[in-house]
Amino acid sequence: MSTEAQQVGRRVFIHTLGCQMNVYDSGKIHAQLQRDGYQSTADPREADLILVNTCSIRERAVDKMHSALGEYRRMKREGQPVVIGIAGCVAQERGEELLARYPDVDLVFGPDGVPHVQRLVAEASTGSRVLDTDFLDLENYPFVADVDPSTHGVSAFVTIQKGCDNKCTFCIVPATRGAEASRPHAEIVAEVRALVDRGVQEITLIGQNVNSYGLKVPGELTFAQLLYAVAEVPGVRRIRYTTSHPRDMGDDVVQAYRDLPALASHLHLPVQSGSNRVLRRMKRFYTRERFLEIVGKLREARPGMLLTTDVIVGFPGETDEDFEATMTLLEEADFVGSFSFKYSPRPGTPALKLEERDPVRPEVASARLTRFQERQRERSLALHRSLEGTEVDDVLVEGPSRHDEGVVCGRTSRHVMVNFPGDIGLVGQIVPVRITRGFTHSCRGERL
Ligand code: SF4
Repeated sequence: MSTEAQQVGRRVFIHTLGCQMNVYDSGKIHAQLQRDGYQSTADPREADLILVNTCSIRERAVDKMHSALGEYRRMKREGQPVVIGIAGCVAQERGEELLARYPDVDLVFGPDGVPHVQRLVAEASTGSRVLDTDFLDLENYPFVADVDPSTHGVSAFVTIQKGCDNKCTFCIVPATRGAEASRPHAEIVAEVRALVDRGVQEITLIGQNVNSYGLKVPGELTFAQLLYAVAEVPGVRRIRYTTSHPRDMGDDVVQAYRDLPALASHLHLPVQSGSNRVLRRMKRFYTRERFLEIVGKLREARPGMLLTTDVIVGFPGETDEDFEATMTLLEEADFVGSFSFKYSPRPGTPALKLEERDPVRPEVASARLTRFQERQRERSLALHRSLEGTEVDDVLVEGPSRHDEGVVCGRTSRHVMVNFPGDIGLVGQIVPVRITRGFTHSCRGERL
């Protein structure tokens, strides 16, 4: 389809907020628009098309969207001939409201609009205002095959599903990304091959709840079987995945840690709370005991495995005792890192009713978050310090250090970030390093 863009070499600037799914979707948007001749630009002032790919997981993320839009709308008011679009979860959640609020925004589309972004942009470029927040049919869901043209380096995300069928009471994702659809494994393997051909060696499989992959599709692989299939692709040296749901973590996945050396010795396993009472109110459908049982099985299958997690503090009705249970779980599960937040009421989520009846005072929630994060930092520092003087033989070099000249950085299979003096030519190699210094979030080393 040749468009005006092809003739004049239009430029697109995509501002991505939020999670890996959004990063991945922005890559797919870019790949498709490139078919129409759009080139990516890192400078919004040069752009003919500006898209803000938004996140609504917490109110703070929504605020970031409004302030970014303020900037881009000012550029337009000052005469820049640019089409402005809002994509992602806030677009899905508040589509009509955003179009009404921002008269100079031309296009608003939800995550299910990504597969037909070319049509939406072409329509908006003719001057008509476009809104698309329809969910697509799950049957033969049109996952985008194009590889993100900006993919370079050793690591890349590959989506295996869209949406989520769970109903965690605090979460807005099912409302913004719709019901779950699993991507045919042949498409996933094909994308992995295409990425390996581009020099990628580490694949991160992404989805809202990867463990339920394929369960609804007769004849499709299970998640564990998919891990084996990806591990068979020549050139794949490391496999990671996110996001897992403890309830669906089966023994077949645990077995994969015995069988697949490429499977990374690190897992991000969101627990959200250490209290069974709170887990019930969150509708997470596992207990603290079950969570620890899974952790035990994973570590038995892959000794030395490191775990990170997600935690919400201040969930409606959370008592001091509940919070103490989260603090003790931090120790018992031996988390080396975590993303932790205060509960953020999300529009249309079931927890809002709980919040009305049983809110946790903001200062109490803040104090709990501070205490949790302090203890987590202590633990992360202790873990990295404990590596001082040891040799790690599996640092996959990702690129130059962001801070120091002549220093490169990479991660071990256990997801430990290591910076060490080295030449950029090491990128893509797995090298042995002696750890010389441990910090809160990374280590310093010297190449062996
Ligand atoms: S599993 Fe729960 S927290 Fe995760 S995306 Fe689905 S509903 Fe949200």
